[in-house]
Amino acid sequence: EAAVMDLKKIIRSIPDYPKTGIIFRDISTLIAHGPGFRQAVRQLAAPFLDQKIDKVVGIEARGFIFGGAVADLLGVGFVPIRKQGKLPGEVVGQDYELEYGTDRIELHKDAIQPGERVLLLDDLIATGGTASAGVDLVNHVGGEIIAAAFVIDLPDLRGADLLREKDVQVHTLVA
Ligand code: IMP
Repeated sequence: EAAVMDLKKIIRSIPDYPKTGIIFRDISTLIAHGPGFRQAVRQLAAPFLDQKIDKVVGIEARGFIFGGAVADLLGVGFVPIRKQGKLPGEVVGQDYELEYGTDRIELHKDAIQPGERVLLLDDLIATGGTASAGVDLVNHVGGEIIAAAFVIDLPDLRGADLLREKDVQVHTLVA
């Protein structure tokens, strides 16, 4: 049995990225750390091992890294939510607010069957705008969101609260 690591210590913080005054949480140091990455993936998946999840949906791009690994661990398929214009098939799209302006994410219409039980994955939740748009997309194609899981929560920005107000169970590893 490997000792339990403090994942926060292997996540790097980079000041003034992408602009002055922002402290960027950089998970590249976590995923480059074999035991750290393995622990993060196992902790993300743990509450859902017996929840009969059908699909893991990950948000571009860092949600793919954790989502793919969690899907493998749960033995289920992985479905990407991508930025506008990247998915080749028929899509549903959802706009969401950024600090300045809006952005749009998309999901293949046929990637989730009505009634399938979905776990949403991303690296970090801040305001919750991105994850909330992802929840809307899954609902739009008839999927049932069981929970949303993130490596990092920035609780001051209240994103997890926003999701919980939408009756989404939220699972995070470090704050
Ligand atoms: P939200 O929509 O405000 O919750 O922002 C979350 C989205 O922005 C996620 O897709 C994150 O990957 C990304 N994000 C915001 N801040 C950071 C950060 O400090 N590090 C890594 N990703 C971030």
